[in-house]
Amino acid sequence: MPITHLLIDLDDTILNFHAAERRALKATLEAFGLDPSDQNCRIYSEINLGFWQALERGEITRERLLVARFEALYIRLLGLSRPHPSAAETQAFYEKRLSEGHDFMPGAKEMLDALHGKYKLYLASNGNIAVQRPRIRDAEIAPYFEDIFISEEMGADKPSKEYFDLCFARMPDAHRDRTAIVGDSLTSDILGGNRAGIHTIRYNPTGSLSRMDIIPEFEITNLADLPHLLENIP
Ligand SMILES: [Mg+2]
Repeated sequence: MPITHLLIDLDDTILNFHAAERRALKATLEAFGLDPSDQNCRIYSEINLGFWQALERGEITRERLLVARFEALYIRLLGLSRPHPSAAETQAFYEKRLSEGHDFMPGAKEMLDALHGKYKLYLASNGNIAVQRPRIRDAEIAPYFEDIFISEEMGADKPSKEYFDLCFARMPDAHRDRTAIVGDSLTSDILGGNRAGIHTIRYNPTGSLSRMDIIPEFEITNLADLPHLLENIP
């Protein structure tokens, strides 16, 4: 059955979240009196990734994650004996910065132009509304999509089956065997797509290694290859 509907991930698939995150983080570290060095950014990224993986496993709430990552960062950078800035204020400042501006992943805009009109496109993002809505507006990509599914709004996150069930409830005429998810993350996009029983296409621009336990049906390193791939899924 040919593909008719696409769920497309936002961060690091359409928009370069990595660049936005780095910019926002440096501004935040500086504003709260910490050295905005590459090493401190790396430490934050490590902590942040750990918390998002805990969210994907259902071990922490989104609300708690957003503040807890900065608490953990302050403990790591300042130790326990020195006073810490407020993690909640840090999170609020960071979120504001993160929502400003956008950078596209290479070929993302061209890919959306090529797919729009041929497939029903839906944006499927694990993220919070306060950050994602302004970025989507800024990047002027909303018109490409039939609907936008931000996990905070949906009340469930990728890779839960519930998230995908909620998406399908808002996708008229969509059949799972004619729907594919396209995204960079094995643990949210591909695992979620496999659980939901839809086709999975991993966008893997850096050629990073696969995992034995989460296998995408297809993989692309270049977004420009997606239209051709879709046409050839029988
Ligand atoms: Mg992503």
